[in-house]
Amino acid sequence: MSAEIIDGKEFAAGLRARVAAHVARLKADHGITPGLAVVLVGEDPASQVYVRSKGKMTVEAGMKSAEHRLSPETSQEDLLNLINELNADPTIHGILVQLPLPAHLDEDLVINAIDPAKDVDGFHILNVGLLGTGQKSMVPCTPLGCLMLLRERLGSLAGLDAVVIGRSNIVGKPMAQLLLGDSCTVTICHSKTKDLPQVVGRADIVVAAVGRPQMVTGDWIKPGATVIDVGINRIDDNGKSRLVGDVDFASAAEVAGAITPVPGGVGPMTIACLLANTLTACTRANNLPEPDNLTP
Ligand code: NAD
Repeated sequence: MSAEIIDGKEFAAGLRARVAAHVARLKADHGITPGLAVVLVGEDPASQVYVRSKGKMTVEAGMKSAEHRLSPETSQEDLLNLINELNADPTIHGILVQLPLPAHLDEDLVINAIDPAKDVDGFHILNVGLLGTGQKSMVPCTPLGCLMLLRERLGSLAGLDAVVIGRSNIVGKPMAQLLLGDSCTVTICHSKTKDLPQVVGRADIVVAAVGRPQMVTGDWIKPGATVIDVGINRIDDNGKSRLVGDVDFASAAEVAGAITPVPGGVGPMTIACLLANTLTACTRANNLPEPDNLTP
């Protein structure tokens, strides 16, 4: 194996420590505690795990955590009323509605009801537009975490060829915008892309966000490329369940210059960036200088 392993777990721990240090200073100097509200509708087991872990890390960073667990039958009106209450609550600086929502709820309507200044997931249409036009916005946590890892590993990304596999609003599209913002030449691939291995083979940076276990194999990768694996897939491995990414780690690590593992790569960065976004939202809400050492 030749690739350097990009340790997202360690980088995320460092980021969370920097956030916690800022939070402590905010409290000491201004008496302000950043607050994050997480709204979970229904009983999806994976979502419950995510919400629990977000709440725990929010508290560990010294922030206020407010969890709202609603029944799967919650009406659109009740959910919108809760969001309006949280929008008006001065102790809450970030609001996250855990996705996916049950089918009877309109995800776009719900996300766009969040005050854009409190939209720490960066999914509100206003934040999407601000990101797309290169203006100050709330940046979606998973792509932001990927960008931090790439900058940490490569320094300037200017002029590099980047291929993003996946065009979701949550990962693929904002990832492409961020890479463009860092002056990469960006190609977005998706389920209808022709000759995907050949396109991926041109890339200095590969970001895989597909949701297909071990789809990207080592023979697709340009030697020395940096590979960021966003995928989280549970597979059965000889009767044992385990997590794998969208990249076949063993073969890709033979060829790549650096690669994120799954687990322990992008995953831990997502929650750390959520905390960083909540802190940023809090400083903006209070007209205080934004922390400048959170992103490399
Ligand atoms: P999604 O299902 O919304 O989008 C998947 C994308 O992959 C689509 O744009 C589709 O066009 C593309 N695609 C599907 N099959 C393809 C193929 N054969 N070739 C090329 N492209 C193909 O998924 P998502 O929400 O963007 O998530 C993608 C993966 O990332 C999932 O495994 C998800 O669990 C994971 N994820 C991880 C984190 C994290 O914190 N690490 C956060 C969000 C998502």
